[in-house]
Amino acid sequence: MTEPLLCDISVPGRQALRFPQPDVPLAKLPAGLTRQDLPLPELSEVDVVRHFTRLSQMNYCIDVGMYPLGSCTMKYNPKINEETARLPGFAHTHPLQPIETVQGNLLLMYELQEYLREIGGFAAMTLQPAAGAQGELTGILIMRAYHEDRKDTRRIKMLIPDSAHGTNPATSAMSGLRVVQLPSDSRGNCDLEALKAECDDTLAGIMITNPNTLGLFDEHIEEVIRLVHEAGGLVYGDGANLNALLGIVRPGDLGIDVMHYNLHKTFSTPHGGGGPGSGPVGVAAHLVDFLPGPLVGIVEEGDDDLPPLYGFVMPRKSIGRVKSFNGQFGMMVRTYTYVRMHGPDGLRKIAEYAVLNANYLLAKMRHAYHLPYQRICMHEFVAEGCWADAPEIHALDVAKRMMDYGLHPPTNYFPLIVHEALMIEPTETESKQTLDDFVEVMLKIAEEAHTSPELLKTAPHNTPVGRLDEVKAAKDLVLCCGVGAPGEA
Ligand SMILES: *Cc1c(COP(=O)(O)O)cnc(C)c1O
Repeated sequence: MTEPLLCDISVPGRQALRFPQPDVPLAKLPAGLTRQDLPLPELSEVDVVRHFTRLSQMNYCIDVGMYPLGSCTMKYNPKINEETARLPGFAHTHPLQPIETVQGNLLLMYELQEYLREIGGFAAMTLQPAAGAQGELTGILIMRAYHEDRKDTRRIKMLIPDSAHGTNPATSAMSGLRVVQLPSDSRGNCDLEALKAECDDTLAGIMITNPNTLGLFDEHIEEVIRLVHEAGGLVYGDGANLNALLGIVRPGDLGIDVMHYNLHKTFSTPHGGGGPGSGPVGVAAHLVDFLPGPLVGIVEEGDDDLPPLYGFVMPRKSIGRVKSFNGQFGMMVRTYTYVRMHGPDGLRKIAEYAVLNANYLLAKMRHAYHLPYQRICMHEFVAEGCWADAPEIHALDVAKRMMDYGLHPPTNYFPLIVHEALMIEPTETESKQTLDDFVEVMLKIAEEAHTSPELLKTAPHNTPVGRLDEVKAAKDLVLCCGVGAPGEA
């Protein structure tokens, strides 16, 4: 089935817009600003609405079903977040307005800084970074600035466990550091002997994700942090998995020096195509001066009659600005709403249910899928999508077959250290009924892998498109029509 492109359903002369009669004299546009040869599709409003609605129904989204994408924390996004973000006082302000006219927005940002600081156990926060990956870059530049400020310029080595997300080594390399990969031990923890061997006076620090991407809490996290600190290094916490810890463990209390939060994961702001994201960064006291700026602060204390005046302040040794204006303000409103709606006890419950749900799935699936680490998991776990007695089946076949049952596949082939990885994260927002349905499908597929493997090899069967040539799709993008697709003259 091929969906028609907009240009295919174009009819000359059709249009969706009716302009009113002009009430000003007509004038010609300067030469060169208009062109006749731009073949834009000509469509009525109903044509456009139906086209895009039909396309949207061919897609999968969190409002349609469960999204067990490990490492991504694809939880339901409460609709109240959208209502608050659309309030005119938030949505219609401009970042260049005088601060006196946007005190409400600045108060919200200030309080959000304080909430996130408290949740993570840090001394100060920046809300600027636009995603987790940009938060990482911000954090690593802060660590570098700290070492340089102490004239400790030999520190060029960044340790990264082999279970890490790809953004960690990419960030370190982009920041001019030398990446050294650390192995994991047989229980999925950071290997302490390998770590000790790398702890010398060239160590800039370590980037650690806890719980890690195997869904396991590092049993030696305090020892890891102590060893790095004793060698003069700093500890970067990749906070993408904070959902498992909310209200239970504060990374700053463990000794983590700097960490990003993914508001589009832990704090329920829309993800991916529904973005943009937001990746605030928290730091311990010794790194506060290096934060990017400006930060929101109190620029004039209030008194009995007057509230304080909020404005922007620049940290003393700031690494500078990392994002235009003040970051993704709409995401901050959504996060603020989420934090206020849940309160401290509610946030803790999020983590408890996320961990409970993941362990429920794990317990129900463990007899049918091989697990590389036999431990209680945190908010996610990694299973293998392969069986010794079904040699032709791979994780990809399991993932594709899930689509036949109307499920979104989990993250697959990540983390790299698990063979044929299927990384499953249910999140706290899924009910027992949804989890039971998921388990039923997963057990069915495990059975099919043995009894009718061709069903898996040829899946998906009932989606709008079948198996894609992923390499061709990535290398030969066609993003537009009519104006000459790539490869056309
Ligand atoms: C999602 C994720 C990141 C990157 O965050 P983005 O917001 O997607 O840039 C980094 N590390 C881990 C472990 C992640 O899951």
